Amino acid sequence: ALTNMALEAEAKRIVAQFEYSVEDVNKGVQEFIREMEEGLEKQGTPLSQIPTYVTSVPNGTEKGVYLAVDLGGTNFRVCSVTLHGNQSFSLQQSKVAVPRSLMEAKTATELFSFLAKQIEAFLVAHHSDHFEKHKQNPVAEEFFDLGFTFSFPVNQIGINKGNLMRWTKGYDIEEALGKDVCELLQKELDALKLPVRVAALVNDTVGTLMARSYTSPGKTKTLIGAIFGTGTNGAYVESLDKVKKMKSIDEAEGGQANYDKSTGLMIINTEWGSFDNPLKVLPNTQYDVDLDRESVNPGIQMFEKRVSGMFLGEILRRALLSLYEHKDPKVALFKDNSSHDNDIRSTTTVDPSSALFKQWGIDTSFLSIVEEDQSDHLRITKQTLERELNIGAASTEDCVAVKMLVHAIGKRAARLSAVALGAVVISSNKLKEDEMVDIGVDGSLVEYYPGFEEYIREAFREIQGIGEDEKRIRIGLAKDGSGLGAALIALVANKSD
Ligand code: ADP
Repeated sequence: ALTNMALEAEAKRIVAQFEYSVEDVNKGVQEFIREMEEGLEKQGTPLSQIPTYVTSVPNGTEKGVYLAVDLGGTNFRVCSVTLHGNQSFSLQQSKVAVPRSLMEAKTATELFSFLAKQIEAFLVAHHSDHFEKHKQNPVAEEFFDLGFTFSFPVNQIGINKGNLMRWTKGYDIEEALGKDVCELLQKELDALKLPVRVAALVNDTVGTLMARSYTSPGKTKTLIGAIFGTGTNGAYVESLDKVKKMKSIDEAEGGQANYDKSTGLMIINTEWGSFDNPLKVLPNTQYDVDLDRESVNPGIQMFEKRVSGMFLGEILRRALLSLYEHKDPKVALFKDNSSHDNDIRSTTTVDPSSALFKQWGIDTSFLSIVEEDQSDHLRITKQTLERELNIGAASTEDCVAVKMLVHAIGKRAARLSAVALGAVVISSNKLKEDEMVDIGVDGSLVEYYPGFEEYIREAFREIQGIGEDEKRIRIGLAKDGSGLGAALIALVANKSD
């Protein structure tokens, strides 16, 4: 077959822009470590480095029954977790859609009493013995500790204390602003006389860290919990004495910030999605620039915009579009005018309604399919282009170009992920102190993108301070951060009271 040399050359030129070299990775790590330290010292830095008031991680021997609830947006999930104490657990759960009217209720009570009623129904359905016994003879020891995953911006000032900063995701209950969401829930639980204590306010990355630490093989405690899904973020175990800003936070709370200092540890929520704002070391192709400019939050979450599931499809779309609209007609992606000299086919095979022309038109799962494709003539990529982008009859050469771009974008995301993870590993000094360093990860990108972990590992080997020791870094999937993880946070919160 004739090949379209011009297309191949242009695709290669774009691929080169996504290359993130050994030197880049190391520069990234240095800057990440610098921003980590800066974030531990003061407020208002690119890496927020938020103290979570969780001061220990489980090792898999913990036992008991704990509750977890998750108000994420559309749904409210309630679950109970039974920890068997040998790294295993069982979990029961229910899920209910939050009525739209409650998302915009007049009073906080309306929403939170609805939540409390769901918890009551769950206890009646799954823990009726306990529920009835408590009703007859309420004793404090029989309370369930509950971990509350509340995925809205809160200013957390204690393990079970956090004031709502603002609503997002379509919620709008003015009365709740500035109030402690744990207290709002507790009040409604008490009104129903439920044997439940809101023990912890939970961030999902901390949940991932805890869930992995409980389930990871052996008694190795986990160092990092990281999410590579719609967004990206990580939490890790820090030495309390390195959290210099704790002192000023304590003072701001009038000495009221109440947490367990005995472990000498503090789990930190890095909020690394905003690493390197404003841009200094992150790669910045024209596609990154355009994506950012046309996003709802230009200049913000620059790391996340190069790494997470929400954005990789859009980066690809812009790169494909630049090939499609290329001023040199010989480049001509999806135009099929390269090799069929005496064929009078239409020169454009892309339907104007194609998602190729719509912002956010390509989902990151598309990249996973293409990266995975080993079929003859990239038949699967062709089918996927047809199904998802309404692009009929893409040539094999087109598909090769698409695959080159996909690979470049996915691999860059993985190497950037390695920057964040590698920086935390190095800064912790754990490779020197421990035999094994454990990382828990969650999210569709790391779970499904072919080779994502291997690209991270390849970058680890290139990082000064890791190198050969990459073998002693273990990465494992940690699902159920908002169920198991939240339950475990309730457990450690109660222990440290
Ligand atoms: P969330 O982070 O919202 O809790 P997920 O971990 O499932 O949920 O992440 C959803 C994100 O992952 C979306 O941005 C989606 O585009 C992306 N995604 C979904 N499936 C895949 C896949 N197979 N490969 C890569 N990314 C995927």
